[in-house]
Formats: sequence, C-alpha cells, structure tokens
Amino acid sequence: MSMTTYRGRFAPSPTGPLHAGSLLAAFGSWLLARHAGGHWAVRIEDIDPPRTVPGAIDQQLAALADFGLASDDPIVRQSQRDALYQEAIDRLLAEDRAFACHCSRTDLTDQHGIHHHCVGRTERARPAIRLRVPPGSVIAFQDGLRGPVRQDVHAEVGDFVLRRADGYWAYQLAVVVDDADQRITDIVRGADLLDSTARQILLQQALGLPTPRYLHLPLLLEPDGHKLSKSDAARPVDPRAAVPALQKAWAQLGQDPAHLAGSSGVVGLLDRARSCFDPARLPPGDIHLPPDPA
Ligand code: GLU
Repeated sequence: MSMTTYRGRFAPSPTGPLHAGSLLAAFGSWLLARHAGGHWAVRIEDIDPPRTVPGAIDQQLAALADFGLASDDPIVRQSQRDALYQEAIDRLLAEDRAFACHCSRTDLTDQHGIHHHCVGRTERARPAIRLRVPPGSVIAFQDGLRGPVRQDVHAEVGDFVLRRADGYWAYQLAVVVDDADQRITDIVRGADLLDSTARQILLQQALGLPTPRYLHLPLLLEPDGHKLSKSDAARPVDPRAAVPALQKAWAQLGQDPAHLAGSSGVVGLLDRARSCFDPARLPPGDIHLPPDPA
C-alpha cells in the first residue's frame, strides 16, 4: 500500500454504549475515508480500566456491526499493546524528553494544575512520567473544518502526563503511538478532543513520528447550547433502529437528507451515503439538538 493512501480510524473508549456523539464520529470518519477511497480502522481505547464499563467493548462492536461500519483491519485493542507504549516511554526517558514526576494533583493546585517544575514534597512509590514541555512549545495546525488552530502548550498545558502515577498509560501517549503504528493519515473525531491535538503533535515531534491531518467534527449540544449532560451523552443509540439513526447523523453532518430518504436497509443506505457524501457541506460549528418531543 502506498504511503499516501488515506487511512482513517474510529477509536472509541469502552466507557458505555455508543451514543449519538460517537455515532457521528464513527460515521463521519467512515464517510471521509470512503470518499477519499481510503482505509478505515476501528481501535478500542481500553487503557483506563477504572473507566472501562464491563461489556461495553462487545456492545460497541455489535452496534458498529449493526450500523454496517466494519473495520478494514483486525480490531486493535490498546490493552494489548503495553510493549509499544513502554518502548516509546523508554526512548523519551533515555533522551531526557520525559521525566519521572512525584507531584500530586494537590501539589500543583497553586499552579492551576499546570506542571512547569516539580514541587512535590513526598516521594511516591510509582512516580508519573511526564513529557518535558519547554517554553516556546507552540503548536499550530490546520484543522480540516475549523481552519488554523494554535496552542502554546507550555503556557496552557505544561509538562503533561504520559504514564499515570497509578501505572496506566495516558491517552495522549497511547493515541500517538497507535496512530503512527497504524499509519493513520487522517484523524477525524469529535471537537471535544480539539484541545488534545497540540499535545499529540508535540509528542509526535518528540518521538520523530509523522503528523497526520486533523478534522474535528462538531459537538452535539443541548438546544440551549450546553454540552450534552453526562446522562444524555450516555444515552445509547439504538442499533435496532440503525437506519433512522444513520439518517439523523447524516443530516447532522450537513448532508442532504433527501439522499438517504426512503432507505430501507443499512447496506443500501451506506452505499448511497458513500456516493452522495459531500465534505464541503460539513458544518464548521457545533450542532444544537432540537428539543425532545415531550
Ligand atoms: N478514545 C477517545 C474517546 O473515545 C477518542 C480518541 C481519538 O479519537 O483520538 O474519546
């Protein structure tokens, strides 16, 4: 396969069943990959056991199958990739780009949680590992929908965690290592992750990895503009009603509802969707959901 082939992915965390926001990210990333004649993979981000909900992985995979969104690659599970993450950490530590840190959250309260130098007074049995983020670590990138984005990672984030003090890998580390290992060229995901992107690019640079293109899809908001509450965000999409759920997500992605009207099955719907999808219609702003019919 040539290096320039579009390779996209959907990377859910198994913290519950698929909800409307995750369906939007799955369908949006699938449509953009298919539109580019590219490849689309599913990766399960199960590196945070305290947040993993039992049964959620099987439930999410079954829902994706019902929605007809099948991974082109065997499904990758982050919980099985410790060696890759360890290798990346070892390299960063050896090059002094990362360091062991004994500071607790409380130690950093006066710094508003931003780590610029160690202030911890007690040695922890298992320190966290942080990336060194020196002054001047400013990252600028072009988001496929939002345009230019810039973040001063030193000032706004500080030295960030790669391995937590509880021993678990941090999302930022695992996502960067896996996107590179899976040769992902295009990351399409929800705008709730926009703020993580500069950190991920900085980490790619520290590890000598390529930076993919990024496109952050709109967030679904309550009619009053608030973020979906935790309970609403967790409300599952019903895979037994896959056609209407995909039609709704299609409209939320700014596409012409007429193209998918009258679809009776998922296979036919996805065929139509892949041929009618127009990336120029993707909405740049967040989406206000209509009030629930009471
Ligand atoms: N696992 C992350 C989530 O479910 C998404 C990671 C990503 O797409 O980069 O929020």
